Amino acid sequence: MSSMFLKFKRFSRITWEAFKQNVKHPRAKYIIFATALLWFKTVLGYYLDFSLGVAGFFQHLILWMNPIAFGLFFYSISLFVSNEKKSRRLLLVLAIAQTILLYSNIIYYREFSDFLTFKSFFSSQSYKMSGMFSSFFALMKWHDVFYLLDLPIIYWIGRRKFDRRTVSYRFNKRYAISLLAMSTIIFGLNLQLAEISRPQLLTRTFDRNYLVKYLGLNFFATYDVAKTARASQIRAQADASEMEPIMEYVNAHYAEPDKSTFGIAKGRNVVVLHLESIQQFLIDYKTTDEQGNEVEALPFLNSVFHSPDSFSFDNLFHQVGQGKSSDAELMLENSIYGLSQGSAVSQYGSDNTFQAAPAILKTAGQYTGAVFHGNVGSFWNRTDSYKKFGYDYFFDSDYYALTDENSLEYGLKDKLFYRDSIPYLEQLPQPFYTKFITVSNHFPYPFEEKNNSFPIIQTKDETVNGYFSTAHYADQALKEFFDYLKAAGLYDNTLFVFYGDHYGISNSRNKDLATVLPDANIDEWGDFDNTMLQRVPVMFYMPGISKQGVQAGINHTYGGQIDILPTMLHLLGIDTKDYAMFGQDLLSKDNDNEVIFRNGVYVSKDYTVIGSRIYKTSTGELLELLTEEERAAILAQVDDEQLAINYSQDILSNDLLRFYQPEGFQITDEKELDYMQNLKRLDERARELGDKNNSLLYKNKGETSFGLYHTDAPELQNTIAASKKRAHDLHRPDYNQLAEKSSIK
Ligand code: MN
Repeated sequence: MSSMFLKFKRFSRITWEAFKQNVKHPRAKYIIFATALLWFKTVLGYYLDFSLGVAGFFQHLILWMNPIAFGLFFYSISLFVSNEKKSRRLLLVLAIAQTILLYSNIIYYREFSDFLTFKSFFSSQSYKMSGMFSSFFALMKWHDVFYLLDLPIIYWIGRRKFDRRTVSYRFNKRYAISLLAMSTIIFGLNLQLAEISRPQLLTRTFDRNYLVKYLGLNFFATYDVAKTARASQIRAQADASEMEPIMEYVNAHYAEPDKSTFGIAKGRNVVVLHLESIQQFLIDYKTTDEQGNEVEALPFLNSVFHSPDSFSFDNLFHQVGQGKSSDAELMLENSIYGLSQGSAVSQYGSDNTFQAAPAILKTAGQYTGAVFHGNVGSFWNRTDSYKKFGYDYFFDSDYYALTDENSLEYGLKDKLFYRDSIPYLEQLPQPFYTKFITVSNHFPYPFEEKNNSFPIIQTKDETVNGYFSTAHYADQALKEFFDYLKAAGLYDNTLFVFYGDHYGISNSRNKDLATVLPDANIDEWGDFDNTMLQRVPVMFYMPGISKQGVQAGINHTYGGQIDILPTMLHLLGIDTKDYAMFGQDLLSKDNDNEVIFRNGVYVSKDYTVIGSRIYKTSTGELLELLTEEERAAILAQVDDEQLAINYSQDILSNDLLRFYQPEGFQITDEKELDYMQNLKRLDERARELGDKNNSLLYKNKGETSFGLYHTDAPELQNTIAASKKRAHDLHRPDYNQLAEKSSIK
């Protein structure tokens, strides 16, 4: 590593010396001048047209830096042409190409709040382009003149300076190479800074926004083309026969639903609560306040966990890799594993065929699917992948009124988020399948005095301490949401699916966390203990179900997030037999009682396997005296589970589900799913349904139930004000005002 660094230092010094020499040459100056112009307009675009969420001096610095390297590199290409006139023309052509790239991205962004990808020109998403062109002129703004101004300047200076043939401009290539080398160094520096600010930027690629913010628009475009080319090459080689061994595996592992639970939630609405970063250890966690009273960290979730109306699990683990939230969602909706590197939906969510929960429920039960999330839709490529999953509506931050006060780094605070989702929720025809993605309990768990009502947990780690406070807040927000649902009459006929999406406290912090956990063995803390902490809560809550004679309660089956979907569908009376799903119904007698993590760690009722070490799950004892046969039998089980991960990878990278058609299953045409037009589309849907409409709003004769919502969020008044302004900007009704007028309170 250090010799690499020395080489880089030496390379930089030589390049710099050569650069100083060569830059004196008029042609080099010309290129640098053109780069400066490009830099200016790109940075202008970053600030005026793209909302990149740049915060702090360091990120601004990276942003200013990132257009330089590519501009210098790209424009230097013109110096490889030795004929002066041709070289100059080439530079102009390159500048025009840059302008087209930048300007079309700006126009596209104004329409879609996203960057252009190769795919949006071609293939499945080209309909977006035609939408953009038809409103091109409407999307133009007066300051756009600055995006075009550099072209005449470059042309004019080129003509003036280089048409006099008094100086010899030979050895163009020397300048070219010098400038190229310089751009490489600047890019290297840029990459380093980006890596410091956002580690694993390239391998995780969770957001186009991030790539542009840290490495620039040009870099993103190049990266996107390369990635698309590689993916389509792999895809082209795949064929239908590859699904055969996969379906054989899936059929062999299918766990038949139990008669006593199959279909017990049939026809109910479904509300999925994506519990950001909530781990199982928080369930039933208690501490004492200054007055000596016991306080629960999650009183509301505890009440669900212990309810006789809930199938609650205490041995379910998260199974995500780097894709974290997004891979958790992928498993939840598809029962397919994510990737070892990066996020599956970021990579494949725009193009692949999926057979996901919203589409399955729509086919089998005419469900309306909707997601609510108080952050930008492009994050984790949600907008695109939700269309592929078949969600009818996606309400992202465009539909909420975010202010500095009411939002955190990852979006709108939970209490306001649930509240401001109501006007949309009540418009959905029932039964609906909805998912709420919360953000308050998101790393780094910022502690807010005004939103904290939990005794401060004191460990050496601020992150751990904040975590308890934000989790407690998230639980309070849920309670407010449920109080509304009860009052509005949406509570009794709903299946609530709660799930923790991934760990909130990483392994490196677990030792500090353990100091406040009951019966943690801090002195001998190790891999096994870290593994056991990867449990996340999963609960299927059906109010009133125990009165119908169903025996629910706490269940100790071992499993993971992959198992949520088959369990849920079976509760709703939809058999998953025909689907390529890798999970097993957690309530089935055939359930294998085991789970594999995305990193290969395996846990069953009996054994926990970490690398080559095998532990007894119930005690954590390292089993060193197993016979060869016993070891082999256990490892064979791990391998069998691992196969599901490998098959998932095949399905994703080769887009294999396009070759497979489950009986009766239908995919929604994504062209019909314009999430920018949700309100208009809901109106149209209501008109179509006429008096068959059974949305809550329709049942309430058009009067909003929004007034039934009560929150103690300290940011409420300002949010109402911001919401009013937002409603005006978007030409949509101001729901707060409607609630004022409504008699439903
Ligand atoms: Mn998450």
